[in-house]
Amino acid sequence: MTIEVKNIRKQFGQFTALDNVSLQFPAGELTALLGPSGCGKTTLLRIIAGLEHPDSGQVLLDTEDASNRHVRERQVGFVFQHYALFKHMTVFENVAFGLRVKSRKERPSEQAIRDKVRQLLELVQLDWLADRFPPQLSGGQRQRIALARALAVEPRVLLLDEPFGALDAKVRKELRRWLRRLHDDLHVTSIFVTHDQEEALEVADQVVLMNKGRVEQLGTPDAVYNHPASPFVYGFLGNVNLFHGRVHEGVLASGDANFHVPDHAGVQDSQGIAYVRPHDLDVERYAPGLDGIVVKLRRAHAIGPLAQLDLERADNAELIEAVIPNERYRQLQLKDGETLVVRPRRMQVFVDAGAAI
Ligand code: ATP
Repeated sequence: MTIEVKNIRKQFGQFTALDNVSLQFPAGELTALLGPSGCGKTTLLRIIAGLEHPDSGQVLLDTEDASNRHVRERQVGFVFQHYALFKHMTVFENVAFGLRVKSRKERPSEQAIRDKVRQLLELVQLDWLADRFPPQLSGGQRQRIALARALAVEPRVLLLDEPFGALDAKVRKELRRWLRRLHDDLHVTSIFVTHDQEEALEVADQVVLMNKGRVEQLGTPDAVYNHPASPFVYGFLGNVNLFHGRVHEGVLASGDANFHVPDHAGVQDSQGIAYVRPHDLDVERYAPGLDGIVVKLRRAHAIGPLAQLDLERADNAELIEAVIPNERYRQLQLKDGETLVVRPRRMQVFVDAGAAI
């Protein structure tokens, strides 16, 4: 089922939680709603579910206006961060719950319920826990059961609000890969709220970046990471070095360094900021006449395949982070305090407070 929201606005008193949000969620895809705390992700999810009403705007489910439809009629399944399973019911009965409370006309037979629950427990690979009670499960197992319970009623849409937020980093990583595989099997249109950029980039087909109740960018993980539409998106999706300066006819002058920015050939004397990811910096030992930014090595952490270098610019003492292959780091045989030259391999320049060119 496709989901579309059009011009959604939502105020809580004087506070604007959603400010004219329009988005499309393609059928069968997994979309991550990503953004800082308080940017409106949960509110948008609740509006799609029908748990909250927008002040204006529409929710379309398969192109049909569902704005006035009750939660039940929207056929959505939910999983929340702290999804309270019924403690006094076994895992089996928790998963069966949504089927048992259906109206008599719609309720499957007892045998059909049993088959369905078994099938779902196999799907989430926890059939061996059917007779346990929720307090006897780990956090990760509980969330998988919560997902099985949400799927039992065959929702047309699956809404997940930070489903793995309360779990430790390792379990989180395992579960998000597992969720991706499950989604590939089921193809239920799913929306997944997270404030963890790594999670969104790894799991989703498309990512929606939100900030202060507005959509900053929508795109594939590759598009939002490699072609950020705004400084906010750049900064939110990973570490970044900022080089402030003035842009004039295709050159950004920042301290003693000049960056060539051919895309800005027509720009006359504007403030500009070059955004450079740490792994997009080449590092060399200093030699007179080398093009680039002269820095001093403050500290290096070389763990696994990568080495992270904390550098200080010679011209203005700003700190820069570079990430290079550990092999290259060993080759260079760098010592703390050594003078180096760094050069961006890739960067994006924003001039005059944000207009990307
Ligand atoms: P988080 O990642 O912290 O869960 P979020 O992006 O999901 O944040 P929302 O929960 O959608 O953010 O909240 C958006 C804003 O609206 C927040 O500032 C929040 O305080 C406010 N808000 C949400 N629900 C209500 C409410 N019922 N009454 C008043 N303000 C609310």
